[in-house]
Amino acid sequence: MRPFVYTQAQNPQEALSAATANETAKYLGGGTNLIDLMKEDVERPTELIEVADLKFNEIKPNSRGGFTLGAMANNSDTANHPDIRKNYPLLSMAMLSAATAQIRNMATNGGNLLQRTRCPYFYETSMPCNKRETGTGCGARNGMNALHAIFGWNDHCVAVHPSDMCVALAAIGANVQVQQANGQLRTIDFSDFHRLPGDRPEKDTNLQPGELITAIELPKPVFSDHYYYLKIRERSSYAFALISVAAGLQMQSGTIANAGLAMGGVAHKPWKLTDVEKYLKGKKPSQSTFEEAAELAMKDAKPLEDNKYKVEMGKKAIVRALTQAYERGA
Ligand SMILES: Cc1cc2nc3c(=O)[nH]c(=O)nc-3n(C[C@H](O)[C@H](O)[C@H](O)COP(=O)(O)OP(=O)(O)OC[C@H]3O[C@@H](n4cnc5c(N)ncnc54)[C@H](O)[C@@H]3O)c2cc1C
Ligand code: SF4
Repeated sequence: MRPFVYTQAQNPQEALSAATANETAKYLGGGTNLIDLMKEDVERPTELIEVADLKFNEIKPNSRGGFTLGAMANNSDTANHPDIRKNYPLLSMAMLSAATAQIRNMATNGGNLLQRTRCPYFYETSMPCNKRETGTGCGARNGMNALHAIFGWNDHCVAVHPSDMCVALAAIGANVQVQQANGQLRTIDFSDFHRLPGDRPEKDTNLQPGELITAIELPKPVFSDHYYYLKIRERSSYAFALISVAAGLQMQSGTIANAGLAMGGVAHKPWKLTDVEKYLKGKKPSQSTFEEAAELAMKDAKPLEDNKYKVEMGKKAIVRALTQAYERGA
């Protein structure tokens, strides 16, 4: 590992000032992703600014009738918090499907949003990778791409976003609160937080340099009865999703009043299925409705050489997640 300076910020302003003064500095949350990447020589910050101890670790009601999750609260405390389990069980279920208890105890909510892709070419420094080193090419585009994207990719990058938590946040419709270098707060709609590769595949999000994530804002809960997070993976623990589906349904008199639906493992960002949510609104739940929803969700899929299986798997996963969500609260 390369040498770096360690700075312990006592308050947000200290953290922001340190980040503004050194453009190769990085914030350090629980370190469960960043330190691994530094050991692999993929990330090379010259300074780590410790933010995990800043006082943004509360989980509390907010003015939207929802809840605020502090960015520095850890994933275990968030997923197991009684208010989150009761009001946002979809989020708890997704978070508890990730990694292991030990990693969730260390991982912060802010760090989870910014965890980097698990594309093997990104981790292997002898291989070309535009995300790790601009202009070197994409090893996965014509290489081993069974785990990669079927939506939103281009020749610059075909990677997928790895977080389970983020798929549930996309389905629920969250916001991200950040503090800018000048101390001002900015709110980013969750669907605009992560980005597609475009011609800047090294950029995973629309955060500006030095911005500090302080909180995640959840809207008024509407999917607390009918919800399901389906994660399909190569083994049942300690593995990232091949495909995942976060499904929430709000039922009124036997009809779907609202749907929240997003997929993981299919794109460079959590893939919110806005058209499918609209399609489901006002429908009676049934096998055929859910199958039509799945067809609609997958109609623009563009699989790569090795991941054609994701299209059929995605359809089946959507039908199963919606069925489980509906039956769970019925
Ligand atoms: C073996 C293993 C298995 C895993 N399995 C899964 C899985 O199945 N599903 C899943 O979703 N995840 C999985 N993970 C990933 C894990 O969830 C992430 O590593 C974790 O959430 C990152 O949080 P952290 O606080 O440790 O972030 P860090 O590693 O500290 O930081 C990650 C990034 O976020 C930045 N950052 C941190 N906090 C802030 C902030 N407040 N503001 C701005 N920038 C910030 C850092 O600079 C860094 O760039 C796994 C990890 C491991 C090691
Ligand atoms: S898919 Fe993206 S992360 Fe993977 S090799 Fe290509 S550019 Fe790198």
